[in-house]
Amino acid sequence: MDFIKVKDLEVYANHGLFEEEKKLGQKFLISAEIGLNFRDCAISHDLDKSIDYGKLSHELKEVFTEKTEDLIETLVYKLVKHIFDNYEIAKTVEVEIKKPWAPINLPLDTASVRLFKKKRHFYIGMGTNMGNREEYLEKALEEMEKAGLKILDKSSVIETKAWGVEDQADFLNRVVKVESFEDPIDVLHILQKIEIDLDRVRIKKWGPRTIDLDVLFVDREIIYTDELIVPHPFIEEREFVLESLNELIPTYYHPILNKKISKLYEEVKK
Ligand code: ADP
Ligand code: MG
Repeated sequence: MDFIKVKDLEVYANHGLFEEEKKLGQKFLISAEIGLNFRDCAISHDLDKSIDYGKLSHELKEVFTEKTEDLIETLVYKLVKHIFDNYEIAKTVEVEIKKPWAPINLPLDTASVRLFKKKRHFYIGMGTNMGNREEYLEKALEEMEKAGLKILDKSSVIETKAWGVEDQADFLNRVVKVESFEDPIDVLHILQKIEIDLDRVRIKKWGPRTIDLDVLFVDREIIYTDELIVPHPFIEEREFVLESLNELIPTYYHPILNKKISKLYEEVKK
């Protein structure tokens, strides 16, 4: 990967938890490193194919000073989000904010926060079998966009029989492809909050629900934690998931089973 870096940009601002910090202000040092591919720019001499570090530095200063904040954690997140939202070309972003004058009363160089984020593609399975199902699907998509998950692709909506617990109403299902710089666990939490906001109550495992949002794939990553398992464990057993995935990514290899989606779909239909 190629990198553009701005190091220790000096900005004077009034951030901080203490009243004195807000009143007097202090010096901050901002560093940002963006991972991208600037081969096209190097060959064509066209700066639009890379990132102008001069323009970037001015933007960092502007975003950093537009509003007083208590915490540099808030500011570092804001800067990372600004870069991803404004530079489509960015694949990774690392931002560090240092406070050389942090009010600590001990001799130290700087206190700082650093955030590293990477852009990923997520495939999200959506299902609903209660209330106005079309509306729940639409609302969930709107909420995902509002939460910063960018919808890149959508499969058709299909109507399916309930899986697991069969004695319940038919489902509407679809799969969407989403881009986000948030970590997979944070995307799961964003989706869980949307489920709750859209009236979802967990009464019974695999029971009726207004909306179910499952993380099916995250790039080609394998994740196994108490809270999140990726690829989603039941993909190969669920025809409705495979039908939708097959519409979007028939040639994607399941990173554990090492079989194409089209093959898994064929097998589940037998
Ligand atoms: P289901 O989707 O199986 O019908 P829930 O939506 O109630 O059931 O999810 C149950 C749990 O599954 C959640 O508490 C969540 O932490 C966990 N989980 C593990 N991996 C995933 C994943 N890839 N996507 C969504 N939830 C997951
Ligand atoms: Mg779920």
